[in-house]
Amino acid sequence: MDEMNELYYRLPYVKEFDAVVTGCVPGKSGFEVTLSQTAFYPEGGGQLADSGFIGEASVGDTRRRGGDIIHYADRALQVGSTQHCGIDWQKRFDHMQAHSGEHIVSGLIHRRFGYDNVGFHMAADKVTVDFNGLISEEQLAELEREANARVYDNLPVRVAFPSPEELAALDYRSKKELSGAVRIVEFPGVDRCACCGTHVERSGEIGLIKFVSMAHYKGGVRIEMLCGRLAMQDYARKNEQEREIGRIFSAKPYETVEAVRQYVAAAEAAEARASELARRYFELRAAQLPAGGGLLIDFEEGFKPVELRRFCDALVAGGKAKTAAVLSPAENNGKKGWNYVICAGAPVLREAVKTLNKELNGRGGGDPTLVQGTFFAGRAEIERALEATFR
Ligand SMILES: [Zn+2]
Repeated sequence: MDEMNELYYRLPYVKEFDAVVTGCVPGKSGFEVTLSQTAFYPEGGGQLADSGFIGEASVGDTRRRGGDIIHYADRALQVGSTQHCGIDWQKRFDHMQAHSGEHIVSGLIHRRFGYDNVGFHMAADKVTVDFNGLISEEQLAELEREANARVYDNLPVRVAFPSPEELAALDYRSKKELSGAVRIVEFPGVDRCACCGTHVERSGEIGLIKFVSMAHYKGGVRIEMLCGRLAMQDYARKNEQEREIGRIFSAKPYETVEAVRQYVAAAEAAEARASELARRYFELRAAQLPAGGGLLIDFEEGFKPVELRRFCDALVAGGKAKTAAVLSPAENNGKKGWNYVICAGAPVLREAVKTLNKELNGRGGGDPTLVQGTFFAGRAEIERALEATFR
């Protein structure tokens, strides 16, 4: 079969067609079917495979194997029978928009910077393109404007099969050394590239080219981009996010970032004030506790671990006791216990905490002068164990 004569090349807009089943054999999953002609694009050149139906069978994947195009069908089809077939057109057109958009972007980058497209990956929801050189964010924004201007120009997309002599004289982009019939796809004034994918007929059908992100990648850049319907879908989702953030912060469109910044600043100020109030509370609370002695045990309500640490540390540093243990209720998977912090003026805690954890069904550790963790035991039991260890 002349591979350049396939329906998806001759008539890239064919959605349904009739074909004779020329082969059908059981495969690893389902059946491998060949047809007398096909509009199913087999995965290749960075473009994803088509799916669809052949008669009663549904086709999930299409691949080229040798000279054949294999349709992976979910049921057997009678060899010799004529079947009505159809491809999943929305998916295919997504691919045509994305692939065509990629040509415009690669062509513009090649013309302006001389960089090559060194990797092209198409997934169901996005396209990434890798270039072997660096592009700044400003240049990327400019490229996006220019790429979309070429979309609005509604350029005709030309496909040609030049003779080897014509090809030798032609300047075109190519991903690899080519042999046999070479298919040249041209967006006039923008790009000329050897390509085996499917494309739109005019650049206007791409609709929209949107760069989503750019990252450094292997000495160059990886650009994530969306085209056409998928770009529109992404815009709709992001617009909804923006509206939701606007509702939460009572902010107008384009003012949400400022609203979030103000909120974060206010939250940081509140955090700082809470921390200062905690410090004052620790001072007052420390003054209430009995001074002196070897061990001071204090149970507090609703202290966060960081507060337990600060308070416990302050008690020992302030000379209230040689060793201080501060605890606050904790819960883990319905198990009730106590978060603890133990501080000591001298390095004694490492071994002690191991014994305590064993006795009080606890866990945690730390350094010789500060340990922290959780005991899953009752208050009286904890007090007894601490007294026995440190007194
Ligand atoms: Zn192409």
